[in-house]
Amino acid sequence: MARYTGPVCRLCRREGLKLFLKGDRCYTDKCAIGRRNYAPGQHGQNSKKLSNYGTQLREKQKVRKYYGVLEGQFSEYYKMADKMSGKSGDNLLRLLELRFDNVIYRLGFATSRAEARQLVVHGHFTINGKKADIPSMILKVGDEIQVKEKSQSSAKFKGLIENHKKTAPQWLQVDPDNFTGRIIGEPVKEDIEIPIEEHLIVELYSK
Ligand code: SF4
Repeated sequence: MARYTGPVCRLCRREGLKLFLKGDRCYTDKCAIGRRNYAPGQHGQNSKKLSNYGTQLREKQKVRKYYGVLEGQFSEYYKMADKMSGKSGDNLLRLLELRFDNVIYRLGFATSRAEARQLVVHGHFTINGKKADIPSMILKVGDEIQVKEKSQSSAKFKGLIENHKKTAPQWLQVDPDNFTGRIIGEPVKEDIEIPIEEHLIVELYSK
């Protein structure tokens, strides 16, 4: 399935909550959720009760859109999570949080995950001193991420660092002056910006 390229605020309105897909705009009163918090389309304002399956499916779609992951890749993450020890739902959220593009966003080196993905693909970062340009890479505790020296002087990164107001979650350590970040612990669900009922996703994939 191809990546969605339409208006992203529709995705938030479909799920009925902020998914923070548009960078700084999401924190202003221009956010569409504040102004039109009902599903898009002709019948958007007629809410209907969802079946169990519908609820599980919506939860999966919400999480998938939040992280900007395609359907096939999301189901691969679930398979990986299910094979790991511990609870599949917790493992799934941990894998998603440890994606390279998500880490860049969480460090405040990009204003949205979509922007983070683009910056990664364009080769602006290194991991442990080595070139890294695959957004879906799963990082691990101890990894050090740095904005490439050549990119540090660009207006883009200078602006991002100067306006750095994001508070990194406790599992990340960020040093904006040196354009570096480090993973110092395992991500926990409590640090995720939106409420997630991961057990619904587990139920959906366990059918
Ligand atoms: Fe649009 Fe961001 Fe608001 Fe979502 S949270 S509706 S992407 S402005």
